Amino acid sequence: MSNFSRDPILLTPGPLTTALPTRMAMLRDWGSWDSNFNAITAVVRERLLAIVAAEHSHVCVPMQGSGTFSVEAAVNTLVPRDGHMLVLINGAYGKRFAKLTQMMGRRASVFETAEDVQTTAADVERLLVADASITHVGLVHCETSTGILNPLREIADTVARHGKSLIVDAMSSFGAIPIDAQTMPFDALVAASGKCVEGPPGMGFVIARKAVLERCAGNSTSLSLDLHDQWQYMEKTTQWRYTPPTHVLVALAAALDAFATEGGQPARLARYTRNYETLVRGMAELGFRPFLNPAIQAPIIVTFHAPADPRYTFRAFYDSVRDKGFVLYPGKLTQVETFRVGCIGAIGPDEMRHAVNAIRDTLAELRIERVAPIAAQRAVA
Ligand SMILES: *Cc1c(COP(=O)(O)O)cnc(C)c1O
Repeated sequence: MSNFSRDPILLTPGPLTTALPTRMAMLRDWGSWDSNFNAITAVVRERLLAIVAAEHSHVCVPMQGSGTFSVEAAVNTLVPRDGHMLVLINGAYGKRFAKLTQMMGRRASVFETAEDVQTTAADVERLLVADASITHVGLVHCETSTGILNPLREIADTVARHGKSLIVDAMSSFGAIPIDAQTMPFDALVAASGKCVEGPPGMGFVIARKAVLERCAGNSTSLSLDLHDQWQYMEKTTQWRYTPPTHVLVALAAALDAFATEGGQPARLARYTRNYETLVRGMAELGFRPFLNPAIQAPIIVTFHAPADPRYTFRAFYDSVRDKGFVLYPGKLTQVETFRVGCIGAIGPDEMRHAVNAIRDTLAELRIERVAPIAAQRAVA
């Protein structure tokens, strides 16, 4: 690390860089029985519902743990033990979704497209027609392993038309990409504190259709991940069922204040879009190419092809950029060498410009000259 004491800017899609008031909210200790703390829980739950216009149809059930715990809780509680879930996959989080469904003992079928290809409503239509035993569909809205955005509205329509239940992993889209529970029907939508709402990591939440969750008692095969029980306990007592992540919750409340002050989801999307455009433009000047077609890319995280230069290794590149104050993210693709840069968090276009400068200096230091990916160079030759 270099000799300045500033925290590095996290260009990672959670944990991410949070605003100072959000971090300052964590300087107090709270008792889990304290009515002030439980009032904050209630406000946070209501505000999260409002972000996706779900106040009148759904309930928000928070869950301790990282985002995956909440996906697992949603599947484990909403899918009956004899249910059959179709999981739509175009990346690592879709694969994780299918794996946890199987591990919870539910029947899972998968439909997998390439990592740079969206799942379409036509795919879902065909799959639901072909197998009437499917009861639930699992979709990752923004697949963070590449940054691809899947068409939630069209898929939600198709699933609803077939009378099936949709469970959405909206972890890296919630708060930034428009989601409307009234026009995009879903039975459960899962997100977490440490993504686009810009809180610290440590708690997830499920926005569950009330009429559906009411019928889910006894489905869970796990004690701690029983979303129905967590909900019922919270409704009866106002408290969390087991030890709450107190600091995370009050910091999330502060982050939601900032979210509202900024102008809610449209303002957040606008800022992330500026971040994304600044990043991609600056990286293009250095010769870097994004992995995805821009038409299907969400302005959340960008996957870049790694340089073809033999002097490039992710480790040395990462270390050097980090020493200049910016934390990058490794690629998550099996076929091509890539790295990722997040556009989310309490950062703006200035931070993105400085990050590109740090990458430019790193290329010079490591004497990396051939920045274009191997495939692109062959195409030119
Ligand atoms: C972050 C994320 C998750 C949850 O991952 P955790 O490591 O459990 O926080 C799940 N799905 C997607 C699409 C994500 O981006």
